[in-house]
Amino acid sequence: MVYSDGVPYDKTTMKVKKCPRCGNEEFSDSSDYCRICGTNLFNLCEGEPSYNQKNGEYIGPSNQHKNPSNARFCEKCGKPTVYYKNKILKDFVTVLNPDKPTGESLFSGSDSSKNRRI
Ligand SMILES: [Zn+2]
Ligand SMILES: [Zn+2]
Repeated sequence: MVYSDGVPYDKTTMKVKKCPRCGNEEFSDSSDYCRICGTNLFNLCEGEPSYNQKNGEYIGPSNQHKNPSNARFCEKCGKPTVYYKNKILKDFVTVLNPDKPTGESLFSGSDSSKNRRI
């Protein structure tokens, strides 16, 4: 496996068994975030932005899918995942070329789309 950098996760609930950022393995059953560093225990995709139908205010993401812990992009909708966006997972260019300093410039366009408002 080339991309073996995902932490162990429960294939039924898709919840990680070990925090990918700080290594904490102690979670409550109902926890959604790591109690040590606040990292999401589910590798959710970015989802779609949802807006209040009355005043158009941004509410938050909707339609977020749970993905395997090594997923950079959602297998359902193709959006980036939280582990990738939080730089817990390296992009594939960096993984395939470990000697090169960064492959980040390839993806610099993805940041500007975040600021786009409808
Ligand atoms: Zn943690
Ligand atoms: Zn998705």
